[in-house]
Amino acid sequence: MKQQIAVVAVAAPLDKALSYRVPEALRGTLAVGMRLRVPLGRRTAVGYLLQIVEGEADDLKDVFEGLDAEPLFSAAMVALFRRAADYYRHPLGEVIRTALPAGLSGGQGRLAPLRESVYRRAPDSPAVRGARQLELLAFLDACGQASRSELLARFPGCQGSLRSLLKHGLVLEDSQERLRDPFVGQVIPADTVVAPTEHQQQALTIIDSALEGGGFQSILLHGVTGSGKTEVYLRAIEKVLAAGRQALVLVPEIALTPQLVGRFQARFAPRRTRLAALHSGLSAGERYDAWRRIARGEVDIVIGARSAVFAPLERLGMLIVDEEHESSYKQSEGFRYHARDLALLRGQMEGAVVLLGSATPALTTWQRARSGLSLYVSLPQRVLERPLPEVILVDLTVERPDGLLARPLQEALAANLERGEQSLLLLNRRGFAPYLLCADCGTTPRCPHCDITLTYYLARRELRCHYCDYRCVPPEQCPTCFGTELLPEGAGTERLEQELQNLFPAARIARMDRDTTGRKGAHQDLVEGMLARRLDILLGTQMVAKGHDFPGVTLVGVLQTDNLLNLPDFRAAERAFTLLTQVAGRAGRGSQPGRVYIQSYAAGHYALECCVRHDFEGFCRQELALREELGYPPFGYLVNCVLTAADAALVGRTAEQIAAGLREPAGRLGVEVLGPAPCPLARLRGKSRFQVLLKSPQRPALRHLLGRLESLRRRLPSGVALAVDVDPLDMI
Ligand code: ADP
Ligand code: ZN
Repeated sequence: MKQQIAVVAVAAPLDKALSYRVPEALRGTLAVGMRLRVPLGRRTAVGYLLQIVEGEADDLKDVFEGLDAEPLFSAAMVALFRRAADYYRHPLGEVIRTALPAGLSGGQGRLAPLRESVYRRAPDSPAVRGARQLELLAFLDACGQASRSELLARFPGCQGSLRSLLKHGLVLEDSQERLRDPFVGQVIPADTVVAPTEHQQQALTIIDSALEGGGFQSILLHGVTGSGKTEVYLRAIEKVLAAGRQALVLVPEIALTPQLVGRFQARFAPRRTRLAALHSGLSAGERYDAWRRIARGEVDIVIGARSAVFAPLERLGMLIVDEEHESSYKQSEGFRYHARDLALLRGQMEGAVVLLGSATPALTTWQRARSGLSLYVSLPQRVLERPLPEVILVDLTVERPDGLLARPLQEALAANLERGEQSLLLLNRRGFAPYLLCADCGTTPRCPHCDITLTYYLARRELRCHYCDYRCVPPEQCPTCFGTELLPEGAGTERLEQELQNLFPAARIARMDRDTTGRKGAHQDLVEGMLARRLDILLGTQMVAKGHDFPGVTLVGVLQTDNLLNLPDFRAAERAFTLLTQVAGRAGRGSQPGRVYIQSYAAGHYALECCVRHDFEGFCRQELALREELGYPPFGYLVNCVLTAADAALVGRTAEQIAAGLREPAGRLGVEVLGPAPCPLARLRGKSRFQVLLKSPQRPALRHLLGRLESLRRRLPSGVALAVDVDPLDMI
């Protein structure tokens, strides 16, 4: 007999979807995109329903139950999940789990639709008594029905009257779903209407014609800092909506502040455009409800961080990736996808325009545009003819400062304080000092679980591992020689803050890094402090460089630039150039021009020289030449295979076997096998780590070889894990 078979991606490391019989009792209650509870071996697991087919199901196990009353994604999304799983060689069920908002992905969470009571007037009502009751009835007459929360908001303390109306049958009670909406009650800022600049207009003309084409097109919007990219996004989205389609806007998590969302609301809320934001600042319930509104087709614009690339929109006209160079678009654990690359894939699959915006496009994106794979539009000037800031290199081999701040930067800070203008300082390291050093024998306390020094925190008197969060009290004596002089070496933001307070005791100084922004709303408080000019100096890690528009900042200083340039990574120069250009771009965005001081021992480095000249193309030219010589992206493709196990010898041996198993087919395919070698971070959270890096000028050859890797994976010794990172960004 023909039966219904559910094709299910189980949220587990399986390479195939599984089939289950749909029992009679569940027929008609299940649909593609719902979560199911299913048996898996001897346990139960959560899976995602991909398809229902008819067939012979006698040998199959039964679906236990459905977990949703409505689908969380459509069949079209299944196609995207499959392509993503295939591209990144990751189990489909885990891809879907990553895509869905956290909290409901596992299935065990108690996330459920919220319900509340609604009231309406009973058809034939007997006579009414109190004045309050009359008021309530008049209100219900006027609006048909009202929810409990609406009534309580409008008539505080009306519970008693309501109860009495219900008791006497004057009012009927029902229950309906209430969607948790973070925007409710929020003040929407006023929209600033500006006429587009000539360059903005030119960009829009090109974007419009791509939209009119109706199919996939990728466009790089290369706009210098402060050139008004957001205005271009807003106007492009107007076109998308006018054509009856939807827009998805990806921004780095850190940039997803109320200010940015506010700008979108200011433009679109008055037109009753339905907006949803997806980010980690929402409660699990808010995210769940936002997601379901999107899945039901009740949203026109989604703004979100990385994982919003999976938002279940059905009529996508445009995907925008703001600050497309940002490394936070790459997920570094589990399903290691890159949201910008998936946005491009999704645009292709769904026939949408993909707009990538940045002042410092990733070299790979730049190369795509140069080779004609995507269109290129540029905003080469700041709005209102504001100049780009003057960038000054401070050569530390000449200046040799006692503390962290060399004389030119110190003087500039003093002058800025004098004038009442704001300053921003970047030092990309947290804590007081990156390590303690024994003055007698040179020992440095290290993390017992990771191969890394422990960062010293002065105010909390603590040593802390920045990878596994191990913490301990700093030892009084050196554990090796029992010497008593353990000195904090090097500097982090905490030390810089202290030095600034000593130099400028009257200045209002604040620090922005992961340690000061852990609490919800803390980051926002600092941003508002800057905007309201309650702060004179904001110092911090790269967080201070990210997308902020602080019109009062006229001075930017960058310290310890050499740390950025000397990272053991072929992208070190690109990262440094990008970060410096971005942080420099925070200066002089208001009416006063800005200056930037970059302190370095390597003042002749091309990344610094190009930054001084605001010469993005010049930097790319030099960097591309180096990459081409070495066959690194964008001239080659990489896959990093990372093996981890508690047993260092075992993981080393296994890495050798994997590399040996790949070498022969790799040779035939023209893929280079580099390593195995211990990862730069050779121990992490108690696990030893080795990597085998695969490199090829051709993507298909690499994909072929990954097939071979899958069969090797099945024979891994127990206790060893293999993570495959396609297009890796970080190789620590
Ligand atoms: P970007 O993202 O390119 O760094 P923004 O989009 O934040 O720049 O714009 C910088 C500032 O310029 C914002 O305050 C914005 O309101 C303003 N702006 C944008 N376009 C115009 C315009 N055409 N005329 C006047 N001001 C503009
Ligand atoms: Zn650690």
